[in-house]
Amino acid sequence: MNHVKHLRCLICGKTYQPDEVAYVCPHHGAEGILDVVYDYAAMAQAISPQSLARNPDSTIWRYKPLLPVAADAPVPPLTVGGTPLYAAPRLAAGLGLKHVWVKDDGREPTASFKDRASAVALVKAQEAGAEMITTASTGNAAAALAGLAASIGFPSVIFVPASAPQAKIAQLLTFGATVMLVDGSYDAAFELCMQAADAFGWYNRNTGYNPYMSEGKKTVSYEICEQLGWQAPDVVFVSVGDGCIIGGVYKGFYDLLQLGWIDHMPRIMGVQAQGSNFLAEAWQHNEDVLTKAPIQARTVADSISAGLPRDRLKAMRAVRESDGGFITVSDEAILSAIPELARATGVFAEPAGAAAYAGLRQAVRTGQVAPDERIVVINTGSGLKDVASAMKAAEMSGAVPHFIAPTLEAVRRALNA
Ligand SMILES: *Cc1c(COP(=O)(O)O)cnc(C)c1O
Ligand SMILES: [Zn+2]
Repeated sequence: MNHVKHLRCLICGKTYQPDEVAYVCPHHGAEGILDVVYDYAAMAQAISPQSLARNPDSTIWRYKPLLPVAADAPVPPLTVGGTPLYAAPRLAAGLGLKHVWVKDDGREPTASFKDRASAVALVKAQEAGAEMITTASTGNAAAALAGLAASIGFPSVIFVPASAPQAKIAQLLTFGATVMLVDGSYDAAFELCMQAADAFGWYNRNTGYNPYMSEGKKTVSYEICEQLGWQAPDVVFVSVGDGCIIGGVYKGFYDLLQLGWIDHMPRIMGVQAQGSNFLAEAWQHNEDVLTKAPIQARTVADSISAGLPRDRLKAMRAVRESDGGFITVSDEAILSAIPELARATGVFAEPAGAAAYAGLRQAVRTGQVAPDERIVVINTGSGLKDVASAMKAAEMSGAVPHFIAPTLEAVRRALNA
């Protein structure tokens, strides 16, 4: 038993019982993304801020009654969620702001936000009686799925673009996944994975197709609000590729509003790379994301490189319903954000993670945030995921090591240089 009332199609509004459909609304093919609708009154019987305060479990499963999984469903042992929310006074002061926090999801077990979704995927795959699980990914969802699958000995087949950063491919191979390095973009890997899942009957974790992935991702908003004493922030910055994370961020706040645990919806700001700006463009020109043609995505922030964002309906809803917006940032701005964020907070982000901070920097310049607003920036991935980009960013910032002989005199000379 869980508290899911039904699944509702984001296009036609038709509702289904969870066992009636596999993943999407049958009337619209892969586009027919479903939203999970809950019985909030029943939920409120099972969990409250008071019961949470007594719960020693710091993982996403502390919110189990708010998730689309059974109360007694076995969950993977890796500790997903419970990531730190750091107050960032020096970062804030540098931008002329008063209250900024950094939610560091680089601290997840496979070092990205994607663990929140993959943990739920493995519970649902077992519930469905599947014997194999698959996903396409720019790299992090793949690493998350491979790692969570390894934690319970569940086999996985992963499709990533051959151009994915080495660290992410190393994770996949180390976790023992069957790895398909696709000669093409993420969009090509996605299409191929969808066909393979269908042809071989694998459980399909794909973003923007499996309705439960944004449900795992929404736990970040629960944590942020709980960490802030159930005082929702005013603005949240999050980077956007497929749009699943931002959709989940919105859903989490939405749930808490329905439950009456918070009193307002934060403005949700989606940050895209200039070279992967499908959603920002659609937002700016008021285009229909269902008919808008895919773009050629190209950015240093590989995790947010998506020519056709798969969760675009949920992403647009998040920004529209929260009175937020989309912002684009250049690759140069993303790279410069890496050391700036790191030096002000000690948080080392991969390019897509630092993009959220680059978005905040830009929003300050354009007056989209006020100095006394309470602002959360989500770092979605660890800097160790993409060391090549970090080295480039450090170099661009003017940071250079001293190459020295192993003598104290050489140290003195370096310090005086
Ligand atoms: C996947 C990912 C994103 C973007 O999430 P979407 O759901 O694709 O919008 C941002 N940052 C990192 C590090 C990611 O891995
Ligand atoms: Zn429909």
